[in-house]
This record gives sequence, C-alpha cells and structure tokens, in this order.
Amino acid sequence: MTTESRTITKALAPIASYFVKDVKFPFCKGCGHTNILRRLNEALVELQLSSRDVALVTDIGCIGLSDGLFEAVHTVHTTHGRSTAFATGIALADSVLADRRLKIIVLIGDGGAMIGLQHLVHAAMLNVDVTVLVCNNFVYGMTGGQSSSFTPEEFLTSTTPKGNIVPPADLCEILRHSGAPFVARTLATDRELPSILRQAIDFLGFAVVEILELCTEFAVPANELTGKKLLEEAEKNRWKLGILESRADRALFVDRYERTNGAKELSHPEQSSVRRTKSAVVRRAVSIVVAGSAGEGVQSASSLLCQAALSANLYVTQKNDNPVTQGSGFSLSEIWLSPRPVGFTGIEKPDFILVSSEDGLRELGLQGWMDRLSPKTRMYLDDTVDPTMVDDRIVRVPLRSTFGPRSATLGGLALMASEQNIVDPKMLVALAADRYGERTASGLTDGLKRLSAGGGAG
Ligand code: SF4
Repeated sequence: MTTESRTITKALAPIASYFVKDVKFPFCKGCGHTNILRRLNEALVELQLSSRDVALVTDIGCIGLSDGLFEAVHTVHTTHGRSTAFATGIALADSVLADRRLKIIVLIGDGGAMIGLQHLVHAAMLNVDVTVLVCNNFVYGMTGGQSSSFTPEEFLTSTTPKGNIVPPADLCEILRHSGAPFVARTLATDRELPSILRQAIDFLGFAVVEILELCTEFAVPANELTGKKLLEEAEKNRWKLGILESRADRALFVDRYERTNGAKELSHPEQSSVRRTKSAVVRRAVSIVVAGSAGEGVQSASSLLCQAALSANLYVTQKNDNPVTQGSGFSLSEIWLSPRPVGFTGIEKPDFILVSSEDGLRELGLQGWMDRLSPKTRMYLDDTVDPTMVDDRIVRVPLRSTFGPRSATLGGLALMASEQNIVDPKMLVALAADRYGERTASGLTDGLKRLSAGGGAG
C-alpha cells in the first residue's frame, strides 16, 4: 500500500457528465439540492475521476434521492445520520483491500448531520479520506419542514410556528475543533461552489463543505426566504463563508495506524503472514460450541478459528454469549464453518463442543446443550472439568495445564482443528502470532507437540 497518497485513477476517456442520461431531478421546484448536485457534477467533470473510483454515500432525507441520478459511480444509501460512519468504514476497507482507489463523497442534510454528529466528529478526529457535503436548508424537508439543530433563531418551521428560540449549532466550528483538516461553508448559489467542491474532493483527508440552501417547499414560504436573506442569515449568525480550514499537517488515520502498529496489522489475511490455503479444510458444514470462562479469551480464540476458516475460503458465522460482567462467569461462542453460505446460524445438534473450564460446562448444562448432543457429537473437555456423564464421545485433554488458562481455549481449538481436519492449525498459530505475538504462538506450537506426543488426550 502506498502511504500518504491516494491511487485514484483518471477516467480513460473524457467524461462530459457523471449524471445518468436525461437526468431528472426529483426535488421540488427551486430546491437548492438541484443546484448542489449540478455543481458537484461540474466538480467531478473537472477532476475527471474514473467513475468506478467514486463512491457516493447518501443519507435519509430529500438529498438521499441523489444516488440514482449518477451513472456508473458506486452508491450506498444508508440509514439516517449514519452515512459518514458507512463512508468511514468504506474508506478504511479501501485502504486495506484496494490500495486507496476510492474517492468517497457523502451527501447528507442538516437533519442527518446532527442525528449523526458523532460520526462526523469521529471521522474528523480520525482524519479519514472522505468528503462530506452537508446540504443545510435549516429544516427536515422530507418529513414536513420541522426545525433542525441548524435552524436559525426566529426561523418559522412546522415545529416552531412562533419562531425558533434555540440558537443554531455551528457545524463548521464543531468539526474544525474536532481536527477536520478541510472545512468550508458556502451558499448553493455561490459561483465558487464548483471550485470549492473540487478542492474538497481532491483533498487527501477529511473534508467537509456546509452548503446553505433553500428548501422552497417549507423554509422559503414560511420565512419569505431568498438567496439574499440567506446571506443575511449567515452574517447575522457570524457564519464565516469560504474555505475556513485547509491544512496539510494532519496524517491520515491509516498512515498513523501503520506507523504505530506496522502495516501487517491493517492487512487482509491474504496479504499478511497468513496465506490462503486449501489444505486440511473441512469439506462439509460443521457446527462448534465453545464454552469457557469470561476473561480467558474464549470468544477471541473462536474468532481466530473463524478468521482461519475465512482465510481457507470457508463461510463462517459466530455468535457470542456472556454475562454482563466481562471478567467473571461463563463465555460462549457458537460457530458455523461451511464451504457453502450459512443460511441459518442457529445450532440444533452441535458437531463439536469444546469446554475449557468448569464455568463453561455449567453454562452448557443451564442452556440445555448437553441434552442436544447427537451420537456423532465430539466433546473436547479440559481434564479439570468434571462431567456428570461418562461417554465415549468425550475426549478429556489437559488444556489448562498445557496451554495455561488464557490460552486453553485457543489450544483446544487448534487441537480440535488438527485432529478433525477443520482448518490447518498452522494458520491458527500464524493468526495467534499476528494478534498476540510470537510467545503465544510458540506456546501453542509447543503445547500441540506435547499433546500429540502423548501428553494427555484421552
Ligand atoms: S421538501 Fe424542501 S428539501 Fe425536499 S425537495 Fe422539496 S424543497 Fe427540496
């Protein structure tokens, strides 16, 4: 992966418009959204980004109708206020899996921006490579013109018929103080808007542009609002216009993460020390219940098994259960590994059960698992655990004494994976090295050797 840069490609042939052919805007007559989208298109045309390298993430609200208007770019329509969180996830995944190919643009209204304020603040703090366009018309247009957190004082809305008495939040200042390296505010009618949008999109890092605009259906009639009055509103509220922040001194989150943790921590298993393998992989769907004590890495060990299975091209599901307390009581995971997609994640009769402590066995009993064993169920039990039943389906293994309490589950899963040809245990060891370090990994390898040399399974 390149660092401190982006690998966006330019369009192979000139693109005259990113809109679909004969685009029809679904907004009310005179709505500022139409203007904003036209200016966004102009900015994209100027940048000539390859359509397949642009991802448009939209929110709920009238502006959320935008994604169907653009041709060929990736689009994701998200839940209310969460578009920036989705965009952040896309940006991080793009950095890991695709060498930073995408330019991600969020379109969100003022309602969504305040509902999802934490996501905006967090994206600014992280400094992810995402551009957020906040289309601020001071009201929730789609649901009937209710006031938002950005509605100016004295403004008439359907929820403030005598005038809004709550001062508006200043989103640009909130995000500047959260570390956003590019912040701009302007009007939808500003001639400079395409240029500001182009700079925001081209900016490597988190960029936000708040665009003040008219909701002709609600804000305009109730307040006799015009473009001139919008400008006066900005002056009255001391909302500065133009590019308010553009600093190049903040590194992207992924670059800082890599510098602190090393590139492999961000890598896909395919790119890390753990390679994809087809060896020693289960050929049918298997269900596994893992039970032990909270605080002893039961669910983490289960997730490593799932990760090993994913790296072997299997489908996986994992459901966890533990009491509210994290460090006492039981901890349980239910796992499916399958060469085909898993349709139903529930387990009726488990193929395998691993129990690494008395807490785990007690909980299995309370949850009725012990009554749901099939004749083919195989149970791996730590030898300190005292089952009431005597059964040849049970394999007793000194997991805790061989691997130590905190690695007993991981060791048991590696042993089970090896003996039952579920996944290659070496993959589990490599993943353990990635996550916990070489010491844990070599402890795992040594323990497995001791057990296979007759150190206790029986
Ligand atoms: S309700 Fe307001 S924001 Fe929605 S399309 Fe109509 S004018 Fe635009």
